[in-house]
Amino acid sequence: MVIVFKPGAPEQELEKMKKQLESKGISVSVTVGENQTIFGLIGDTRSLSAGQIELNNVVERVMRIQEPYKKANRSFRPEDTVVEVRGQKIGGGHFGVIAGPCAIESEEQFLTIAKAVKASGANFLRGGAFKPRTSPYSFQGLGKAGIDIMKIAREETGLPIITEMMAPKHIEDFAEDVDIIQIGARNMQNFDLLKEAGKVKTPVLLKRGLAATYEEFLMAAEYIMSEGNDNVILCERGIRTFETWTRNTLDISAVPVIQRKSHLPIVVDPSHAGGIYWLVEPLTKAAVAIGADGITVEVHHRPEEAASDGQQSLIPESFDKMMKNVMILRKAVMEMSK
Ligand code: PEP
Ligand code: MN
Repeated sequence: MVIVFKPGAPEQELEKMKKQLESKGISVSVTVGENQTIFGLIGDTRSLSAGQIELNNVVERVMRIQEPYKKANRSFRPEDTVVEVRGQKIGGGHFGVIAGPCAIESEEQFLTIAKAVKASGANFLRGGAFKPRTSPYSFQGLGKAGIDIMKIAREETGLPIITEMMAPKHIEDFAEDVDIIQIGARNMQNFDLLKEAGKVKTPVLLKRGLAATYEEFLMAAEYIMSEGNDNVILCERGIRTFETWTRNTLDISAVPVIQRKSHLPIVVDPSHAGGIYWLVEPLTKAAVAIGADGITVEVHHRPEEAASDGQQSLIPESFDKMMKNVMILRKAVMEMSK
């Protein structure tokens, strides 16, 4: 962090601020220019607020040199994080395919879809048991019973299960029952929830908030990591823009930008981004081509009867066809990165 003082700032004010900073364990390197003095702060400045320092009337400007996220930052950990669970990997060249219905509706429904997506090459099963619905009158999910159904499907397919946790009080159950804890877009900045997810070792799939900047997204990951859980997978799921023809706008730039700034894997959710079934394959192709670390896709064998998000769900046959193209494209992408 650099503090630039106003021309003619009184010496004793500078000395006072230097002492204050030093009392917080920060060393101050002072540069005295012809008109202005500059402080270069060395040490952990994470807890300092640039805006608050600027309130001081001898200060002209405060600039942060380093990014506020540390554990998620590639500068401090150059190699890709690979998240591994039950022998399945995401990140560092391992492409994860997470698939399943928006919501778990019944054992028959979930098992049918789980077996179909496995046969097409999915390596993780998704499904919502606790659903964050926009309307309180919409289907809210089966709750704990939904997770029990997922466990049966895990038993039958051997695939790890991923489902959304909405409340901090559920952490113990989720850590015990689930292979990856999903934190949904609407909860990306639910800091209590992030901290709870950070206290366990279960990997977390963190979805980008509806209007979150990249930095806010990485700071949300930082919350989880700062509590000790480094197994974070990021998910770009579209952001809210002025466009109304698609449910959200897939921000494809998020993939290379996040990969440059962070070592964490980033997957793309083409289902919630586009919001309609026929956009899922084109958006998936874009995600694969740009080098995403995986995808998470909604699949339903009877979309017209789905309790949630039927309009954006692929039928198993379309998912299977898409997966064939994903494999072709993936091969080409790997060829190109050789
Ligand atoms: C979901 O994946 O089912 C979901 C609710 O997604 P999002 O949090 O991205 O809206
Ligand atoms: Mn959904």
